[in-house]
Amino acid sequence: MIKDISFEFFPPRTEKMEQKLKQNIGALMRLSPRFVSVTYGAGGTTRYKTHEIVHKLINETKLNVAAHLTCINASLNEIDEVIENYVAVGVKHIVALRGDMKDLDQFIPHPQGFTNSIELVKHIKDKGGIKVSISGYPEQHPESQGITADINFIKSKIDAGADQIITQFSFENQNYIKYRDTLVSQGINIPIIPGIMLIKSFNGIKNMSRKIGIKVPNWVDKIIEKESEETQKIIAEDVAITQSEELEKNGFEQLHFYTLNESEIMINISKHLGFHTKNNIA
Ligand SMILES: Cc1cc2nc3c(=O)[nH]c(=O)nc-3n(C[C@H](O)[C@H](O)[C@H](O)COP(=O)(O)OP(=O)(O)OC[C@H]3O[C@@H](n4cnc5c(N)ncnc54)[C@H](O)[C@@H]3O)c2cc1C
Repeated sequence: MIKDISFEFFPPRTEKMEQKLKQNIGALMRLSPRFVSVTYGAGGTTRYKTHEIVHKLINETKLNVAAHLTCINASLNEIDEVIENYVAVGVKHIVALRGDMKDLDQFIPHPQGFTNSIELVKHIKDKGGIKVSISGYPEQHPESQGITADINFIKSKIDAGADQIITQFSFENQNYIKYRDTLVSQGINIPIIPGIMLIKSFNGIKNMSRKIGIKVPNWVDKIIEKESEETQKIIAEDVAITQSEELEKNGFEQLHFYTLNESEIMINISKHLGFHTKNNIA
């Protein structure tokens, strides 16, 4: 049974987007997510906007809020400042990542910063009192040096104190299942939470997937070629429902949804997963 769901949001770029996000969070709050997380922009951008949204969510809602943080373009002092500011507004959970350079250029560590996510996790955990989520890659990260290296790398992040793994999204459930089974067989026993992408546009998700090394199945191309926008919306919802139900059948108890700041699709999925009934929502 799915015991917990959680949602990811990104910092809105305009006032209009922020108002829409506020409305959508209002709707999603009723599903009692275990936590919601707010991303940190690529290249270390949106640092202030991430902080602002996290602060507002903590102040104005009862949600458990996780703030993302990356090592990109930041010295140790700057990273410390971000963490201190997070803690000052009540953050108790950080999603700690190495991050990507702007335009996904090759990673260059800041000369006074961290060289990888393991160091960041350790640094945050050494402060005490902060839960840390880390990333996992069911389809392997483009910089992966193979599954053995990946397992060792993730074990190092866990040795540094990581509390749970949130995975990158995949179109194929077998990738999540195989990844979980491999990690568990290697003695990894912290929660592994599949990250599910809620598709807003098949074309958009196809382009994004290509950039970040996620395989796009042929059926996605067929949908883009043949289906109207309205039908694509229905299919997107169906894809996420099927994915969630299958993962539930395969023993996952928590799911993390990349909401793209929308709420409608998530509310419909939650009806299928029984979260509406659980939370007495009509
Ligand atoms: C749940 C989640 C949330 C994210 N949130 C954000 C965000 O808010 N902002 C943002 O900019 N990006 C975000 N990303 C994207 C992420 O920053 C990129 O995928 C980035 O390229 C890797 O960062 P990471 O911390 O996941 O990398 P890591 O886990 O540190 O490394 C990624 C992979 O690279 C390989 N690797 C790296 N170093 C080594 C090594 N020394 N030895 C062996 N293998 C190595 C491993 O295969 C490893 O799995 C997120 C990704 C996920 C899955």
